[in-house]
Amino acid sequence: MIKKLLITALALTVIFIGCKKDGSVGPLQGKDDAAFSIYENSFLQGLWKLNPDWATSVGYHKYDSLLLIPDDKSRDKMINYAKVQVDSLSRFDVTTLADANKIDYHIMQNQMESIQWSIQQLKAYQWDPSSYNVIGTFAYILNEHYAPLSKRLRNFYQKMANIPAYYKEAEKQIKNPVIELTGLAVEQHQGGLSVFEKDFADSLKKTNIPQAEQKLMLDRAHLSAETIKSFVEWLKALKNDHPRTFRLGRELYDAKFNYDIQAESKAQQVYNAAVERKKYIHHEMVQVSKKLWPKYFGSKAMPADSLDLVAQLIDTISSRHVKPADFQSAIENLLPKLTAFVKAKDLITLDPSRPLIIRKEPGYMAGVAGASMSSPGPYDKEGNSYFNVGSLAGWTAEKAESYLREYNQYTLQILCIHEAIPGHYVQLVYANKAPSLIKSIFGNSAMIEGWAVYSEEMMLDNGYGADEPEMRLMWYKWHLRSVCNTILDYAVHTQNMSKPDAMKLLTHEAFQQEAEAEGKWKRVNVTSVQLDSYFTGYKEITDLRDAYKKKMGDKFKLKDFNEKFLSYGSAPVKYIKEAMLAKEVVANTGH
Ligand code: ZN
Ligand code: ZN
Repeated sequence: MIKKLLITALALTVIFIGCKKDGSVGPLQGKDDAAFSIYENSFLQGLWKLNPDWATSVGYHKYDSLLLIPDDKSRDKMINYAKVQVDSLSRFDVTTLADANKIDYHIMQNQMESIQWSIQQLKAYQWDPSSYNVIGTFAYILNEHYAPLSKRLRNFYQKMANIPAYYKEAEKQIKNPVIELTGLAVEQHQGGLSVFEKDFADSLKKTNIPQAEQKLMLDRAHLSAETIKSFVEWLKALKNDHPRTFRLGRELYDAKFNYDIQAESKAQQVYNAAVERKKYIHHEMVQVSKKLWPKYFGSKAMPADSLDLVAQLIDTISSRHVKPADFQSAIENLLPKLTAFVKAKDLITLDPSRPLIIRKEPGYMAGVAGASMSSPGPYDKEGNSYFNVGSLAGWTAEKAESYLREYNQYTLQILCIHEAIPGHYVQLVYANKAPSLIKSIFGNSAMIEGWAVYSEEMMLDNGYGADEPEMRLMWYKWHLRSVCNTILDYAVHTQNMSKPDAMKLLTHEAFQQEAEAEGKWKRVNVTSVQLDSYFTGYKEITDLRDAYKKKMGDKFKLKDFNEKFLSYGSAPVKYIKEAMLAKEVVANTGH
């Protein structure tokens, strides 16, 4: 019900990980901290009971067999729970808690306020048909190997019992829905039908569950598929003369930004900073392009429009890419190089005991991302981290070429920095060591994406690819994607930006291909605020590094900053800042 909407961005997917609060008490923990830890535990128990699907998705499997009906009663229960928790939190004196718990406190408080606001103000359950979808959790139960298959399938079976009532309630709640979100709901339900029509039956065959029981299970899967099909038909036939606009509007947007991003700045301030950043990047790109022009175009005259100049160079340089069959091996070869560079430049300590496993993308993930990270969930800190690489086999030559131009010789390196070293994978290894279940469950997207973006620039600033100005140019293009994500999201949802203006921003000013820009337009039609994570987090981390540098003076070492920053886990940057700038930091002890 209150599940976070998870849209997988092409090649930028990351599944949050973290680790279980193991009860280890640090030297700074006092009496209040011990009580707080106990409270955290009961806070989560209560949350999972009210949100079984969310629980399943983070690896808490006690309620796998339950499917709650999304009715007024269950929303009231959720609001009451949130109010009780806000009250419980207020009994702790946050100033006496250790830093790690202080941050947890703020995260929990924000989460509880966010839940109340979502139900009472945002009310997406009325206008967003895609907020009703049972398929994701069923697919998770089927595909994740956390328990024996027969046990998972029996939970699957029990959970299916409420599917008819679930969609009946959905049809009761939906009023004047957003047309784009109605289309998304239709698409997602049709796309996921095979979970009930085929995948479940295929899995059943691999078990020794008795035939009679299997028959009951298959009958129920059939009924589930029929229910979903009729929900799709209902959506398609829905009379909707006064649909809500897909644009969230200024007031809801500002509030959602505050709850979801938890930044120090307001949405508009971040938007303004992104506009400035775009200007700066354009200026830098023109400088690099002028230098590179003769190398690729000889004495040919440069285009008069400076953005055209940049575009022509990007287009030419993008033709340097690997062959489709070499995509995975190119990534395999890159990772040790990135590791060696990070070590040579002493940027951050890498933990060799938590290796990253590169694998072919599992079948059930196929179709969207060419490369992505999967990491163990908050309740499974010993699990492996995987770098999933999609095969381009079977793609048309045209599709593969367009993809490989996007992930060319240069951007493929940036992709690996972002996803793996020292981006998401390294951040998540550090997060695992911060003993807070709260931070890994409510992992802050701006901190997580911001770190990955920050790490790209840090590598380049420390000389990665310095012998090739092409690398810098392609990074600017890549970086403009984050910057323009923020501009686009804010302008579309609060300033009525039109589609032609959006397309012009993305293709002309951010140098994206028509198809990529179309995809982004579609995404901003069905999500809001999510696209702000990248640039907001990047900006806050960069600002914090500068402030920390000032504070430390001669004693500043980039490696210390990086490690200290990551040691707090996936927390909002503003709280990490509070901790890092407040305390008297003892100078570097070395590693
Ligand atoms: Zn990312
Ligand atoms: Zn080519």
